[in-house]
Amino acid sequence: MDIESTLLRLANSKFRASFHLKRDDIEYIKTKGWDTIQAHCYDFITKRLAPAVIDNDGKQTPTHGHPVFKAQHACACCCRGCLSKWHKIKKGIIISNNEIKEIVELLMTWMHKEFDSFKETGSKKATKSIKSNKPIQLKLFS
Ligand SMILES: [Zn+2]
Repeated sequence: MDIESTLLRLANSKFRASFHLKRDDIEYIKTKGWDTIQAHCYDFITKRLAPAVIDNDGKQTPTHGHPVFKAQHACACCCRGCLSKWHKIKKGIIISNNEIKEIVELLMTWMHKEFDSFKETGSKKATKSIKSNKPIQLKLFS
């Protein structure tokens, strides 16, 4: 799987691109750390997606409550139907360890991108307000 081109493909889908990490997800990642998030990611994929037969397939991934859930919807790794449609991973057979690794890598890359862009927007705003204060102060002193 080519992660970057897959992410581009997903970004072109209005539905997939509508999922974003919110402040509580960002806080959760900060509190838990990336290693734990990746461990959760492996756990979810292994238990909820990898088996050949899944009783609630199509409904096993909530839309919020964990950053990995959002990543799964954004990356079309939410159920076996989406995995087969988007990533050519066949339904009805166990997902291989290699494929699990690739899915986790895709989800982690998406979350890292979301995390970084979330931080950037926060700091950009802060820099702007500092800059716009400066000329006012200078005028007061001149
Ligand atoms: Zn799905």
